[in-house]
Amino acid sequence: MIKIVRSKELSKNREGSMEEYIRDLATVISNIMIIGKEKAARCIFFDRVTGTCTLLKFDVDIPTLHTIQINNEWRPRIDKHPEVCAVCPFWRSREG
Ligand code: SF4
Repeated sequence: MIKIVRSKELSKNREGSMEEYIRDLATVISNIMIIGKEKAARCIFFDRVTGTCTLLKFDVDIPTLHTIQINNEWRPRIDKHPEVCAVCPFWRSREG
């Protein structure tokens, strides 16, 4: 289960221990994943069948990403990497 911590709580922990710092980082990463999943679910370029982005394509397989090769191009598995959507500037709404 993901616990969402408000940014005010994060700033309170700035003077805290390494454990608190790591917990803060985990919270930020969790937020990135939640935002990315929401953006993917609503993006016109997300292919729900393959779990890939149909816009982002690479000429080579990226070792740090789960990918699928389609027509000599490598598409990132957005269902495995919602963080890609969180920072993506190409998002377009399915709702027009
Ligand atoms: S937000 Fe970006 S990476 Fe994610 S599915 Fe849409 S275009 Fe692809």
